Amino acid sequence: MQGDSFETIIIGGSYAGLSAALTLGRSLRKVLILDSGKPCNRQTPLSHNFLTQDGVPPLAIAEKAKAEVLKYDTVSFLRETAISVHRTSDAFTISTAHNATFTTKKILFATGVRDVMPPLEGFSECWGISVLHCPYCHGYEVKKQSIGILANGNTAYELCTLIRHWAGTLTLYTNGPALLSNEQIELIKTLNVTIVEKEIKALKHEEGYLKNIIFADGSAHSVSTIFSRVIHHQHCSLPLDLGCTLDEQGYIEVDAFQKTSVEGIFAAGDNTTPFRTVSLAVSAGTKAGASINKELISSDLSGLSHPT
Ligand SMILES: Cc1cc2nc3c(=O)[nH]c(=O)nc-3n(C[C@H](O)[C@H](O)[C@H](O)COP(=O)(O)OP(=O)(O)OC[C@H]3O[C@@H](n4cnc5c(N)ncnc54)[C@H](O)[C@@H]3O)c2cc1C
Repeated sequence: MQGDSFETIIIGGSYAGLSAALTLGRSLRKVLILDSGKPCNRQTPLSHNFLTQDGVPPLAIAEKAKAEVLKYDTVSFLRETAISVHRTSDAFTISTAHNATFTTKKILFATGVRDVMPPLEGFSECWGISVLHCPYCHGYEVKKQSIGILANGNTAYELCTLIRHWAGTLTLYTNGPALLSNEQIELIKTLNVTIVEKEIKALKHEEGYLKNIIFADGSAHSVSTIFSRVIHHQHCSLPLDLGCTLDEQGYIEVDAFQKTSVEGIFAAGDNTTPFRTVSLAVSAGTKAGASINKELISSDLSGLSHPT
């Protein structure tokens, strides 16, 4: 394997990467998937809202996908982190954390994003379990319950109007003075949202299942579910090193065929879009796989001499 050449190397072997690998394997392409094994939803007990896999553990979906993909004998998978990419005249050389090197004609980055946890005790342990980011993924399971929102400013306003739809009762925790306009506060109040501006000290939980919000003044609120948003960055910096353009929100810019601004490099999944769902990652991966195969066909044809 070390030193082998491939038609495509996919960096990131979660939903987007495996989906592209399926399309490329079915297109008889020699493909290597390099995956460091850290998908963003790995702490979530059950994944929802993906047809045929609703309510299935995220890892089970990925393991099933990997088994399907590896039935195609031109596709290989390595548990490895890609750490550098060098371009030669007609190929790329990729090095990994374990000092392996491989060459490839095309690269697909399906590397996702890395969520950055705020410095609040208990938050990261509850992330994806009882501190939730997406009502389409996890809202139904807590419908009509007493739900908290941990946010401030415009994000708080947006989350209140959205999550109100699922909640029985809704409380906004701003963790300090509310940074909302009078109009926003008025509307939130007409939605029967209680606003709590006290500073938060910690989220008390049992194995990620939230029990209480502890305030700096020593008081506590019993809460079992919170919706919140965190910032995230590109999980992998290699697309930037290679000169791929990012949009103003920090996502890799791609065209309708998942091509980046750099010839021969494609991207798909969470690293290209704020719409983070398994179904969209899978769909973008399929598109990337077909686009890469089309380009490989074109370069194969351009190497043939034309009949006179
Ligand atoms: C807490 C949480 C819960 C979620 N719940 C749901 C849900 O219920 N339903 C739903 O539809 N969506 C859910 N999502 C969204 C969903 O998880 C993402 O949209 C999906 O995982 C995106 O797939 P992806 O393949 O683009 O990226 P990821 O799944 O994040 O995978 C990226 C992969 O790239 C690898 N990688 C990164 N850099 C390198 C490198 N240099 N070398 C090798 N490998 C690398 C990572 O290790 C990882 O395996 C959730 C997200 C979060 C954060």
